[in-house]
Amino acid sequence: MKKVSFKTLGCRLNQYETDALVTRFHNAGYQVVDYSRPADITVINTCTVTNQSDQKSRNTINQAVRKNPGGLVVVTGCMANHYHEQLEKDGKIAYVVDNERKSQIVSLVDAHFKGEIVDPGTYTGDRFGFETVEKSLHTRTSIKIQDGCDQFCTYCIVPSVRGRAVSRPLDKILDNVKKVVDNGFKEIVITGVNIGRYNQGSCNFECALEKVIELEGDFRVRISSLEPDGFGPGFHRLFRHPKMTPHLHLCIQSGSDPILRKMRRMYTTRSFMEIVETFRNNIPDFNFTTDVIVGFPGESAQDFNETVRVVREARFSHIHTFRYSRRKGTRADRMEDQLTERIKTERSEVIRGISEENRLYYMKSMIGKSQRVLIEKVNKERMASGYGEHYLPVKFEASDAARNRFREVKLVAVDRSVEPFMRGTVL
Ligand code: SF4
Repeated sequence: MKKVSFKTLGCRLNQYETDALVTRFHNAGYQVVDYSRPADITVINTCTVTNQSDQKSRNTINQAVRKNPGGLVVVTGCMANHYHEQLEKDGKIAYVVDNERKSQIVSLVDAHFKGEIVDPGTYTGDRFGFETVEKSLHTRTSIKIQDGCDQFCTYCIVPSVRGRAVSRPLDKILDNVKKVVDNGFKEIVITGVNIGRYNQGSCNFECALEKVIELEGDFRVRISSLEPDGFGPGFHRLFRHPKMTPHLHLCIQSGSDPILRKMRRMYTTRSFMEIVETFRNNIPDFNFTTDVIVGFPGESAQDFNETVRVVREARFSHIHTFRYSRRKGTRADRMEDQLTERIKTERSEVIRGISEENRLYYMKSMIGKSQRVLIEKVNKERMASGYGEHYLPVKFEASDAARNRFREVKLVAVDRSVEPFMRGTVL
């Protein structure tokens, strides 16, 4: 039995696609082993969203090549699209497989071991051709509803490495959800590149979501990151449904309107804050997290102060902070007034500090409230850990706790360890 290991970098969509490949390799008779162990095949699912992602992807490829002498290293993901020729020329990697053909990797590896001459470029592309996840490395699983993006934000390389926006047929999505629920998953994450732009005939994003939560079964639904302009004013009503979790990762990127315009974002800070207020007025305790880019070309001290003001006002409980990274081929890369790395680093530290303050504030506000925790781990001391519906990490003692089960827990304290979490007691 040949051994295969995986390493994933980047976003939740990549994670989903790796999970689906794990299932396909497993079903095809390969032994899936941890990345730290030697393997006959190593699949690296790369990311290219920033320069740092490129660097991490390169380091991982080099490490995999060193670690598995004589093994087959297959590189896929956005960096494989972005630097396809360069990676092939390096000669270290057996196969470089574009995103469009990622779902075909098992067939390609099979053909390789049968001694066939394999050219990944001749495999048919299908961006939704992934297996239903059975064997996952995680307790929650993602459902891919969409791929690609037509928005062309001026800083973003994703449209050129993931291609134009395409939506998965609704019946395939519903079938996929039913299967993963039958396979025992209790939490699904709706995933794609720009899911708010989902569009299949007369069914838009909200319609697709509504159909998913109408399905039977004991599961709950999360939404991976969402742009603030892909849904209507009544979107918050969907979150009254017991299957919906009260958390959104809503990407603001900047709190300055002139910078948002330069980024080619399709909203203003005012319209963004209206969404946040509407949700909080209707669903108290709703948890918002976000992405912020600091040091975008031309971002003045005043623009940055606006971002500081807005992220405080919105009380995001987590801010994923990116230092603006120049990506060749994007409009922002050609803009004048690029900022120094020193300014970007200083500004990102300020935002990270606010993120930590906001997080503690939000956690403290949740003390005394109950959460339905999906247990991810139980240690030898019978201490269970997992996430509640508001997407806060919770730990609690329970002699009968088991992985992948829900437990009603009362939040009693915030533990300010390196990674803060909530302590709870079983209800
Ligand atoms: S919406 Fe903008 S940031 Fe998001 S993938 Fe599309 S172009 Fe990139």
